[in-house]
Amino acid sequence: MIDLLVRRGRVVTEAGVREQSLAIENGRVVALISDGEEPAARKVIDAAGKLVLPGLVDSHVHFREPGLTHKEDFQSGSLAAAAGGVTTVMVMPTDNPFTLTPEDFEAKIALARDRCHVDYALQAGLGPDRRHVRALADLGAISFELFLSDLPPALLTDSAAALVLGLEAVRDVGGIAGVTPGDDSLYRHAAEIARGEHGGAPQAFARARPPEAEALGVAQACIAASSTGARTHLRQISCAASLRVLQALRGTTVTAEVTPHNLTLDEADFLRLGVVAKVAPPLRPQSDVTALRAALAAGALDVVATDHAPHHPDEKAAGATDIWKAPGGFPGVQTFLPLMLRLVDEGIIEQAALVRTCCAHPARLFGLYPRKGALQVGSDADLVIVDPGRPFTIRNRDQLSKARNVPFDGLTASASPILACLRGTVIMRDGQPTAPPIGEFLRP
Ligand SMILES: [Zn+2]
Repeated sequence: MIDLLVRRGRVVTEAGVREQSLAIENGRVVALISDGEEPAARKVIDAAGKLVLPGLVDSHVHFREPGLTHKEDFQSGSLAAAAGGVTTVMVMPTDNPFTLTPEDFEAKIALARDRCHVDYALQAGLGPDRRHVRALADLGAISFELFLSDLPPALLTDSAAALVLGLEAVRDVGGIAGVTPGDDSLYRHAAEIARGEHGGAPQAFARARPPEAEALGVAQACIAASSTGARTHLRQISCAASLRVLQALRGTTVTAEVTPHNLTLDEADFLRLGVVAKVAPPLRPQSDVTALRAALAAGALDVVATDHAPHHPDEKAAGATDIWKAPGGFPGVQTFLPLMLRLVDEGIIEQAALVRTCCAHPARLFGLYPRKGALQVGSDADLVIVDPGRPFTIRNRDQLSKARNVPFDGLTASASPILACLRGTVIMRDGQPTAPPIGEFLRP
């Protein structure tokens, strides 16, 4: 007698789709049964006619705790994840304080304990002070995050030398570096011109983030990755210029991320929606969206991750008439799977590519595969069931993030996530979280 049998679903893996039953015991997959006898189970979920995917692995979320919990916290952010069929999150270090030292890291583990509805790993920030890399790796940091722009000095990598030294430090502990590309000098220059031309209108912000600044950061990171041999993961590729640099310069140790929003919305949507759609990098012209979609389909972009970046609605509202007064970013973890299902609807990617880029590959890159991101014998029984016959509409009123508002309100997909399991426990039904916070801390 096993704990749980998920019967006769269309199980989606990187290799394709196959009708199978999943036998689950002690939170793990113990058998995949194509034909033949199924074991007796204490609980059965009938998945006939439904898609069964590994739970999504979101390798880029900001949950704002400690210090910024009016925007989000471990509880609200992870509830939104569970509601969306995301069963593993990797949490960025840009809170208050930043997660830079072993003390910061241990304090964050303690804050998250018993409050997360999905499994979680923590990312460490790496700025000019590189003394703590070994200790942070020993504590289980899932990645080390280097920011080439947009952050205060404690977390800024502001020279080529700092980038090379940072990558060497990460390489020496066998870790992976996340690099957010950009260039503050170009942003300042472009912002000055944009303010003069467009004042506080959304156009001003769109113009203030030239693609060249991102592409320059991509080039620096690729060259530094080649010279150091460090595993380097580029965050939030948003434009064709970056893709061209990546294609020319990426060596064997560079991988790249793209967000669902940069694959879905364009600059015209930002100009129409205004502050709710303000994000950095910004929503780009349609030609960039088309290039990103082609790169994802071709495997040139490895991972999709949301950059879930919630802000309190009042903070966003402050930019209603002056775009510069609102922070960039919006929630993404709950709308991740519906937006990816839209890309499947549109024929941009196949279901197997969704599993590769949103489950398997992020788990693999950050050292969690095949425990996470897969439905193999021995994998954690993290799964999401999708009803291909039930249309889904994204609604602001359904969002569980404290930020509430997303720029996707009203967008539809042909299929609905209807149930999610974390280690064999049902944590979501019909978009509603159903379980206490059983999420556990994950080490690479
Ligand atoms: Zn981010």
